[in-house]
Amino acid sequence: MAERHLSIWLSGPGGPEALEAVEAPARPARLSIEFLDSRGRRVGRRASVAVPDPLPVEVPAERGRLDWARVTPPLSLAGREVADRAVSLRAFSDEAVFAEMPLEAAAAPAPAKPTARRVFNPRGKWTLLLVSEGFASADVFFAAAAGLDAFVRSQPPFVEAANSARFRIEALFWPSPKEGLFSTRVDGRLVFGDGELVKRFVKASGAKGRLIVVLVDKLVRGGAGGSKDRPAWVTTTSAPGEKWEAVALHELGHSFGLADEYADSSQTVPEPAKLEPNVTDQRSAAKAPWAALRTPGVPSDPTCDASVSPPSPLGVVGTFEGARYRSTGRYRPTAECLMQRTDRGFCPVCQAQIRKVLAKA
Ligand SMILES: [Zn+2]
Ligand SMILES: [Zn+2]
Repeated sequence: MAERHLSIWLSGPGGPEALEAVEAPARPARLSIEFLDSRGRRVGRRASVAVPDPLPVEVPAERGRLDWARVTPPLSLAGREVADRAVSLRAFSDEAVFAEMPLEAAAAPAPAKPTARRVFNPRGKWTLLLVSEGFASADVFFAAAAGLDAFVRSQPPFVEAANSARFRIEALFWPSPKEGLFSTRVDGRLVFGDGELVKRFVKASGAKGRLIVVLVDKLVRGGAGGSKDRPAWVTTTSAPGEKWEAVALHELGHSFGLADEYADSSQTVPEPAKLEPNVTDQRSAAKAPWAALRTPGVPSDPTCDASVSPPSPLGVVGTFEGARYRSTGRYRPTAECLMQRTDRGFCPVCQAQIRKVLAKA
């Protein structure tokens, strides 16, 4: 059977309104799919499919800020799940048909080896994988990858030779149709696609990395945060006060184990049992995990509480109230850091963590 992959958005732009939707539940309780041949006859059996869980994702906002949005990822079906001879599919929510669509509307190309790849610092041990989306030309994609590589290596702590030597970027290029390879959707600042399909392409490439960033050739400033198991998405367009490369570097910060250093009450991601190395619940800088890095002679308890805006003093390492989505009770090491806003560099505590991870890579 020819490999066919399907990406089906269940809601939002490009979702059921693109289908002949009878009823479009944002998140069906139980979803099943059957395939139909050219005469409308069912091919094979109706199969239940796992309903994707809605995910909170981080989205770059204006003036270097970061926001959160909830998205339901598309249903991502691999080739073996798509029946032979099928020309359309019908989706059921419980027993009710809620959508019918021709397969071409959801068809995604089958994963294959990249047609070109470029490695920056091949001897490095810690690899960031870049995947092309929406780029027709390898040269344009590799120029964006080179731009990101140069930016990362210009920033502390990567600017230090020992750290730069351990950091490696592998850029994987697949020629892309105009509408993209990975069913990528733009919804305001949120740019997000079929991450499972991206992972199947990466697997076909044989490349391995600590974080996958999908670089999207779109003339909008946007993206979506990733995780160890999920690619991040970043458009290669900057806006006033925001460099796209800095948004990618913020994502890289997460993959080094760093937490967000801003407050956002809409964000409900639970805290890990042990807080990340750049966040503490200790008011006193002397008791923070970064006590050894604090600026001497600065009063601490805390150095700056949440009521002071803008926080002061700049450049000081202490305990600044407001971090990890909470405006009070969680402290960050400095007034401003790349893990707080994308128009700043990493603070000394975040730099120390990155050095530590790179040294072990
Ligand atoms: Zn973040
Ligand atoms: Zn920091």
